[in-house]
Amino acid sequence: MSEDCLFCKIAAGEIPADKVYEDDQTLAFRDINPQAPVHCLVIPKKHLDAPAAVTAGDEALAGHLIRVAGEVARQEGIDDYRLVFNNGAGAGQTVFHIHLHVLGGRAMQWPPG
Ligand code: AMP
Ligand code: ZN
Repeated sequence: MSEDCLFCKIAAGEIPADKVYEDDQTLAFRDINPQAPVHCLVIPKKHLDAPAAVTAGDEALAGHLIRVAGEVARQEGIDDYRLVFNNGAGAGQTVFHIHLHVLGGRAMQWPPG
């Protein structure tokens, strides 16, 4: 738990979220400002600032986030989806607790803006 971290507070149940999946290591919930019909965030319960903070010891956890994202997509009934990690403010990161966006339910454009 990192002090004043929004997603740590969500993981701890101190701030409500629209949860779609939970296990011992991760939580997934709907994005409060969805950019697609399906827009969920998968977070580890462990605080990591960003993808750049992932170390060798976190590799299993990082892989688990991807597996959970696939599970969330199945639950939401979508086969085609985009998974996004933003790393750093210049890349659009606004919450500095690592999270994997699961976006789908509409055609996705490439390249992203
Ligand atoms: P990023 O810009 O990659 O850091 O993504 C942060 C995401 O968190 C944004 O898409 C926000 O809409 C979302 N977000 C911020 N606060 C909340 C919240 N309380 N519950 C759910 N999603 C949130
Ligand atoms: Zn945190």
